[in-house]
Amino acid sequence: MQTGKIGVTTENIFPIIKKFLYSDHEIFLRELVSNAVDASQKLKTLASTGEFKGEVENLKVSIHLDEKNKTLTISDMGIGMTEEEVNKYINQIAFSSAEEFLEKYKNQANAIIGHFGLGFYSAFMVANKVELITKSYKEGAAAIKWSCDGSTDYTIEPAQKETNGTDIILYIEEESKEFAEESRINDLLKKYCKFLPVTIVFGKEKEWKDGKYEDTDKEKVINNTKPAWTIKPSELKDEDYKNFYRELYPIAEEPLFNIHLNVDYPFNLTGILYFPKIKSNIEIQKNKIQLYCSQVYVTDSVEGIVPDFLTLLHGVLDSPDIPLNVSRSYLQSDSNVKKISSHISKKVADRLQEIFKNQRSEFESKWDSLKLFIEYGMITDEKFYERAEKFFLFKNVDGKYFTIEEYEKLIQSEQKDKNGKVVYLYTTDKDAQFTFIEAAKNKAYDVLVMDGQLDAHLINNMESKLKDARFARVDSDIIDNLIPKSEDKKSNLNEQQKEILSPVFKSCFNSRDQFNVVFENMTENDAPVIITQSEWMRRMKEMSAMGGGMNFYGEMPDSYNVVVNTVHPIVNKILSDTEQQIAPQLTDLNNQIADLQKEHDALDKVNADKKYDEIPQTDKDNLETLNKKITDLKTERDQKLDSFGKNHPLTKQLTDLALLANNMLKGEDLSKFVKRSISLL
Ligand code: ADP
Repeated sequence: MQTGKIGVTTENIFPIIKKFLYSDHEIFLRELVSNAVDASQKLKTLASTGEFKGEVENLKVSIHLDEKNKTLTISDMGIGMTEEEVNKYINQIAFSSAEEFLEKYKNQANAIIGHFGLGFYSAFMVANKVELITKSYKEGAAAIKWSCDGSTDYTIEPAQKETNGTDIILYIEEESKEFAEESRINDLLKKYCKFLPVTIVFGKEKEWKDGKYEDTDKEKVINNTKPAWTIKPSELKDEDYKNFYRELYPIAEEPLFNIHLNVDYPFNLTGILYFPKIKSNIEIQKNKIQLYCSQVYVTDSVEGIVPDFLTLLHGVLDSPDIPLNVSRSYLQSDSNVKKISSHISKKVADRLQEIFKNQRSEFESKWDSLKLFIEYGMITDEKFYERAEKFFLFKNVDGKYFTIEEYEKLIQSEQKDKNGKVVYLYTTDKDAQFTFIEAAKNKAYDVLVMDGQLDAHLINNMESKLKDARFARVDSDIIDNLIPKSEDKKSNLNEQQKEILSPVFKSCFNSRDQFNVVFENMTENDAPVIITQSEWMRRMKEMSAMGGGMNFYGEMPDSYNVVVNTVHPIVNKILSDTEQQIAPQLTDLNNQIADLQKEHDALDKVNADKKYDEIPQTDKDNLETLNKKITDLKTERDQKLDSFGKNHPLTKQLTDLALLANNMLKGEDLSKFVKRSISLL
């Protein structure tokens, strides 16, 4: 029997392994099974070159758990090791400047294990004793047993083993006894070994017998050794891709499309990505991609490895070139990883472009479910935006789809305003903004539906990219102002008429401060009163609601314009009612205001050329007093107009109708409206 010390430069490696690799203990199984698979693959390679003459068709890796004695055995039928090899690969651990490294990567088991080829030694995270019984495939090689109890001392002695291969026996320590439970081992194998290329068996298939599950004679196979991504795309049918998706996500809805990645230069990458149906709530869709390294499962958190928007995709990526066993921050700065990331982004865009070109109607039919994903990419990835310009689709209120270029052509001449800007009209709610959509259609304008979660963002983005174009929500003003065609027309009303009519209309709104009355000459066919909300203000509020940092706007109350159509006969009727029924009572007030205003103007004129400091104090005082008097009188006048307006059924009826058209008339106000309507009939 040979005894010796394991060649580490640090005093004792095992306490370090246990201490620092605490959180990730379960990966020991991945490491040991991967080694067993490697050993099997190597034997197959040797067989293919004729160096090994034996049978390699039915190689498998068997996991055996003895729950009672708390031992876990991983057996392979691979190349095995000679005594010399055990010395070289197991006893001599290259472990230079270990302390420094451990300090840097504390708590990152993966980093340490991968970096130093400590895969095998991870066994000591869960076992207090490990035995390795191995026999090399080489002719005449003797079987040996290596044994180590977790100190730096090991023993090697001859062993009995008929066939080539290696058995690793772990004596599971008390603190890790969870790893001596069948269900735990089963779960771990399912997690890490599901797609390993050599058959993995663990325990027996069970069957339902006499009211309980019982073991059958059949070994239970854990893995699918030939997952779809390892097969040539030309050999796979649509159904195969769907089946593989179901294998990955048994309960998910069927995906929209897939992309089979197959790259071998400048790096190795294979995989299948699926576009899931995404309707809303991006977050729960994220991080479903599984990352493999030569079919060994590594992680399902791929942030940093693929661009953020691609984490919405589902599927698998497999690359031996991604340095999987290092820390995440290292990964993100790795140039290979960056290349892979931008490559995937390009492939995804190419595939979408291809589907769009060859199967446009199918692409359109799936657009609504695809849109959120594509918009997310366009907003967060400049390069993707450029590629997506070819297949991004606008959808209009009639359900027709257009590319950006097609849509530009469609509206270019009709929807150009007097400043030469093309106006993209859009609605966020076809039903709520129905009247505004109708008004736009009457002008032969087209209206887009932009009701998605990211549409507001995308609109901002597009405006900065499209030349001479802007977006306007269809209810943000009357249609003639949304796309102004000529210089402003002169108003029908004089200033005095506007001054008295404005408080009359305002009086009909409960929160008067939020409503600003403006007058427009529209046509008799247009509505008498329309309520709009400024595009700019609404966007600021939306941005603030999405956490855009504009809290100031977020706290402001909503504000609306009450657009009064001065051409409409009912509006003129209200004007003449006001002029006849209430204006006479205002004559006195108006005269007083006019006199004070004259005085004010005269003082202004005298001091017109003076700087503020040069104006005599008496004049300043007088101006102030005059201002105050005028304001007070105007307030008194407005109060009279206010109480006239709110008791004028016709005015109230018109403003209620306008509120109703915007879905803003609710509760008691709505019920009063209904009663008033009946009495007016
Ligand atoms: P790594 O696998 O990263 O090289 P390990 O510590 O896991 O590091 O293994 C060290 C070496 O020991 C392997 O490269 C391999 O040569 C040998 N080895 C480990 N397990 C087995 C096995 N089951 N069969 C044959 N050789 C093995």
